[in-house]
Amino acid sequence: MSQQGYVAAPPYSQSQPGIGGFGPPNSPIHYGHYGDPNSSYSAPQPGVSKSAVPFGSPAPVGPPPPGAQQFSQASFQNGSGTPGPQPHRFQGPSPPSNTGPSYRPYSHQSQAAFPNTAPASSTAQLADQLNSMQINSYGPGTAPSSGASPGHPVAFQGPRVLPSAQQQMGLPPAPQLPPPPANSVNGLCAQPALPPMARQGGIPGPVPPNPNLQHLPGQPPGPGYHPQQANYGPQMAASQLSYPGAFPGGPAQLSGPPQKKLDPDSIPSPIQVIENDKAARGGQIYATNTRGQVPPLVTTNCVIQDQGHASPRYIRCTTYCFPLTSDMAKQARIPLAAVIQPFAAVPPNETPLYLVNHGETGPVRCNRCKAYMCPFMQFIEGGRRYQCGFCNCINDVPPFFFQHLDHVGRRIDHYERPELSLGSYEYVATLDYCRDKKPPKPPAFIFMIDVSYRNIKSGLVKLICDELKILLDKLPREEQEESSAIRVGFVTYNKVLHFFNVKSSLAQPQMMVVTDVAEVFVPLLDGFLVDFEESRSVVTNLLDQIPELFADTNESETIFAPVIQAGMEALKVRTFLSVREVEYFVNVVSSALCLHGGSVDFNVEPAIGVEFNKRANVVSLEQAAECAGKLFIFHSSLPTAEAPGKLKNRDDKKLLNTDKEKVFSALSEEGTASYIAESVWLYDASVLTLFQPQGNYEALAKDCVTSGCCVNLFLFPNQYIDVASMGLVTMYTGGTLYKYNNFQLDTDSSQFLSDLRKDVQKKMGFDATMRVRTSTGFRATDFFGAMYMNNTTDVEMAAVDCDKAVTVEFKHDDKLNEDTGALIQCAVLYTSMGGQRRIRIHNIGLNCSSQLADVYRTCETDALINFFAKSAFKAVLNQPLKTVRDILMNQTAHMLACYKKNCASPAAVSQLILPDTMKVLPVYMNCLLKSCVLAGRPEIPTDERAFQRQLVMAMGVADTQLFFYPLLLPIHSLDLKSDAVPAAIRCSEERLSEGGAFLLANGLSMFLWLGASVSPELIQGLFNVPSFAHISTEATSLPDLDNPFSKKLKHILAQIQSQKPYTMKLMIVKQREQPEMLFRQFLVEDKNIYGGASYVDFLVCIHKEISQLLS
Ligand SMILES: [Zn+2]
Repeated sequence: MSQQGYVAAPPYSQSQPGIGGFGPPNSPIHYGHYGDPNSSYSAPQPGVSKSAVPFGSPAPVGPPPPGAQQFSQASFQNGSGTPGPQPHRFQGPSPPSNTGPSYRPYSHQSQAAFPNTAPASSTAQLADQLNSMQINSYGPGTAPSSGASPGHPVAFQGPRVLPSAQQQMGLPPAPQLPPPPANSVNGLCAQPALPPMARQGGIPGPVPPNPNLQHLPGQPPGPGYHPQQANYGPQMAASQLSYPGAFPGGPAQLSGPPQKKLDPDSIPSPIQVIENDKAARGGQIYATNTRGQVPPLVTTNCVIQDQGHASPRYIRCTTYCFPLTSDMAKQARIPLAAVIQPFAAVPPNETPLYLVNHGETGPVRCNRCKAYMCPFMQFIEGGRRYQCGFCNCINDVPPFFFQHLDHVGRRIDHYERPELSLGSYEYVATLDYCRDKKPPKPPAFIFMIDVSYRNIKSGLVKLICDELKILLDKLPREEQEESSAIRVGFVTYNKVLHFFNVKSSLAQPQMMVVTDVAEVFVPLLDGFLVDFEESRSVVTNLLDQIPELFADTNESETIFAPVIQAGMEALKVRTFLSVREVEYFVNVVSSALCLHGGSVDFNVEPAIGVEFNKRANVVSLEQAAECAGKLFIFHSSLPTAEAPGKLKNRDDKKLLNTDKEKVFSALSEEGTASYIAESVWLYDASVLTLFQPQGNYEALAKDCVTSGCCVNLFLFPNQYIDVASMGLVTMYTGGTLYKYNNFQLDTDSSQFLSDLRKDVQKKMGFDATMRVRTSTGFRATDFFGAMYMNNTTDVEMAAVDCDKAVTVEFKHDDKLNEDTGALIQCAVLYTSMGGQRRIRIHNIGLNCSSQLADVYRTCETDALINFFAKSAFKAVLNQPLKTVRDILMNQTAHMLACYKKNCASPAAVSQLILPDTMKVLPVYMNCLLKSCVLAGRPEIPTDERAFQRQLVMAMGVADTQLFFYPLLLPIHSLDLKSDAVPAAIRCSEERLSEGGAFLLANGLSMFLWLGASVSPELIQGLFNVPSFAHISTEATSLPDLDNPFSKKLKHILAQIQSQKPYTMKLMIVKQREQPEMLFRQFLVEDKNIYGGASYVDFLVCIHKEISQLLS
């Protein structure tokens, strides 16, 4: 297959033409590291379609031996299962007008049939391709790890999860294992006969995947699976699954009668992994005193104590032990990455960061590599010198910093100085670290409100103004300060811009209109950015008047880029001018006023307001960035007014199905034709295009970053709005994008206001630059996040808040050193909310090993998924979706194959063996592959996909974990006596029950799903209505009722919400009513109606790939 689809963009881009992932048959193998020039990916293979390969059913065979971690062919049966239930068409009532924020209403098109994503032919091709893959060598220097046990004797306990199911399956619990914790999924899943009930309801089950496949005529049944006794070993540390060696080699399998599926309880459960970690490490103190130690999972609550390495709240790594050499790294292909959330929120029971102030001398830094003083510096010569842990340079200790060493060579002030004993701390920066060597001014917030017709009529403008009156009293401030130093300013706009003078000495606010949007300038120097305390009455007056002022507007067109431009320019305006400058300005402005009719206040029609021309701008020509800040833009429509940044509607419907030439010409018009490489644009061409921004927003974004201007965007679209273009500046400046589809005041206000409140009050840093330094032998090569890079090392963020994470990939330069380990120092230079220039330092030390098993043993799947998601979502900008999916599949298979070959006990080819730390990697990877960004189905609006893409790019590990594998809680069995949140259950329809009620949340959306026969008491308790039929699904919140059940549930909702950056709107979904289709997309272990394999199918597929790699 052609490789021409590649466009340079590591790590996806550097494969060699003609080399499939593992080369064509008999070709030499370049088993490269992810993204390495020698690495490669397989020629496009049907990604999602692989899912449809059916497989055998679990057989009721004898119990596995004790300590089972290995799931053998014993769990398969010759393909003679009874036909699975046929998926029913959904027969519910027509959808309500507002089915939810995320997706279009379930359409008849997709209702008609669950799309067949795996035509037999593609499966056949897949099989052929898979069969043709070979691995000739694993490269040099790969002594297989002797101990097959990577040290996690905790086996994956799949079969223990569901006792009732086990009995059914004849797979009793392994007797030697301790009973699962009381709050494990055991009890919760033990609803009687869930799957049959659920399917009776006409909701197609996840499993008999594709009805169409069952209709393929004339093909013999597949080879089938024969029960075999597995090679169970109590000593086996890795979780192992065994699949039949004779995986269906081709389409023949497709024709058999629908087969029973693999018992879902026998495959690794994410919930079990989460619960096990909670049981083992939850509620404890985790001290970061050991290099390379693996922290508790991101889902486990514990108290973190900084003892020399950064808290996992700030840095999480894909592995805590790096391979010693680049050859090893290439062999394993485990991404070496750190997910850094430099301003992560810290709970009250943990210590906030110390602030170190060395006065005018500033921080102590290595002369050569400029690393900051930290616990990795080694003091020598009686304390007069120190050796840098990063570059090994010997430095003199500055006299002011000198201290004697104790008998073990440690400075006697070791524990008195945060920079000697802690993983994270801050320095006060000197003027050398400031723009123009001048201390920064406190940052500013500028509120910019779209006052076009729709926003006025919907009541949105009034809602915003009313809320701001309250919110401005809650601006963030430094811990020790009584009031916020942040200044505020106000702009409204439609086709023109209105600036407001809210200087405290004014009796009334003044408005100045700028109609020249082609080259925006700020028409006032003083009185635009003010201290709210001082200008309270004028600002309040303004916010009262804005809705009135534009009440009669009929302007529906808007501008957008000039709005950002104006906000950025306003931050540059100097508030302290020389006398001469003031005189000059007064003259210029006076002449402008004369020309245009004088000043205005609110009694004057805006249209005849002062219209400054560019002459007034003369003053600001030489202006330097005067303060950093954040724009809050509230915008509703595609900016089609004649102005820079004007956007065209290029919704997918218009571009889909156009021929290549048309796509080309559309691209050329938008100036992005340079992305096109020759003739290979056809895959997903239109979709690909639509992720690319139109117009010149990139240049604007760069300007904003340079000016320290962060752009927060609140979008309220009721049709296509081109999120990919409009969100770009937000993305590059470290801002946050919010989107409220079809915003309705009554149902959506609370979600929006909650988001706005959180955002305004967020702790954050402004005008930030981040640098990641490493010890010798490796370096940071790639960065993913809401940020901008002007060069290869400095991550620039106009602002960075507590929820933003940058994912950094590392590559080897050289051999690492096992003794000194792999050290990472992340330094963020920024301006604090109080206007102080500071440097925030996070240090973490990782181990290095020549044993691959050590690398696998310390992997963290949640961080891996964060890395994979961001690297893939970055790649979709210039690569076909299918290529991106294939690379993910391939790399997953490579990582697992390498483990099986080098680290696991010898096992039959037929066995799927997963490292303990990666046993849920397949399920998460599958969730990523079928996320709406990568799935590429036209059913989901382009804007929604661009939105989710952007969100994920900025997420930390906890957020990606929840986003890709939602939380699903059974709430019908709440323990009212306990404060605890009930244990989650797996995201599969089989886990639901008709008599139950379930809460699902993924960080963006939240659903309350109600089974058709849920008890009337529960309905009464939650909704205060007598029956299921009385429940309104229009509500977006639960009523406040005075009963323990309702209170408890509300408490849980608040708890889930409290830790998440986005407010989740609650949707109430009744079983067998149409909006249920939305909900079902979040049951990520099931086959997705939009295409995307079930977890079980995916495992089979991955296993097949691994087997091919190792054969
Ligand atoms: Zn150094």
